[in-house]
Amino acid sequence: MPLGARGMLGALLLLRSSVPRAFGAEEEHFLTELAHRTALYLENARLYREAREAVRQRDEFLGIASHELKTPLTPLSLKVQLLQKQVVVLAREGKQVPTERVAEALDVVQRQVRRLSGLVDNLLDVSRITAGRLRLELEELDLASVAAEILYRFSAAAAQAGTELGLEAPVPVVGRWDRLRLEQVVTNLVSNALKYGAGQPVIVGVEAHGSLARLTVKDHGIGIAPDDLARIFERFERAVSDRHYGGLGLGLYITRQIVEAFGGKVSALSTPGQGATFILELPRGDIPEEWLSAHAAPGPTQGE
Ligand code: ADP
Repeated sequence: MPLGARGMLGALLLLRSSVPRAFGAEEEHFLTELAHRTALYLENARLYREAREAVRQRDEFLGIASHELKTPLTPLSLKVQLLQKQVVVLAREGKQVPTERVAEALDVVQRQVRRLSGLVDNLLDVSRITAGRLRLELEELDLASVAAEILYRFSAAAAQAGTELGLEAPVPVVGRWDRLRLEQVVTNLVSNALKYGAGQPVIVGVEAHGSLARLTVKDHGIGIAPDDLARIFERFERAVSDRHYGGLGLGLYITRQIVEAFGGKVSALSTPGQGATFILELPRGDIPEEWLSAHAAPGPTQGE
């Protein structure tokens, strides 16, 4: 008897060993009913397991997200409190807080606010993607210049961490992409390479392969276990302990969604302990029709 509620699950095999006789109509009716109920039971058990897993993932994510959002808030509020106290104490003596002390405090505040905005932007992006509201504004861009610009933005942080950042992009690689989204993708990959790269050199390469543009980000850090390579592109998935590395597990998910929106793909190769290489392949022409219809922007009733 086939076992299938919503799709085929398997088969129920019934054998009669003692009496050499075919199953009668009544028995067949009974067995059809048995197979139907068994399939429903199996299907419900699967759905229940999936629902529990989704709830577990959501709860775990809420814990991580609250922790991540709280982390920048602590130094931020400490700096503001300290500055407030200094203003009050010095004002009593008829003095002002020295400019350099204010500037140093504002520097910390700005860094933490930027970190907070980055986290919130990621959360907003995920809800946009889930609602199919990721919009692209395509224009002609040179991937090599975009990569150079992103590396320039990371240069101070890399120098501070003593990490060498290199670019191998001998010629312009032009295509039609959305500038901000493309920058976001390259930023995610480079920031991961710096974060998980154990301070070793990070090399970004850009080249054209006919109608494809290829960008690679290679690091020599902790690497990724083979079993985790596909999983890390899923929502909330991480392959490191949150005690050692902060993060929401959303960067690569958002990256993959954007890259697929461009009609491209992103993948990773790695030898654990020796580093990872992320490979981005983007068609240089227009994005595919199927994607446009699948991600068509809904009406104005849906807010952020
Ligand atoms: P996050 O860094 O916030 O955890 P991501 O979605 O950017 O989230 O990455 C998902 C996971 O993939 C990370 O938690 C980490 O385990 C793994 N990962 C990403 N980039 C690298 C890399 N360059 N080297 C080693 N592991 C990486």
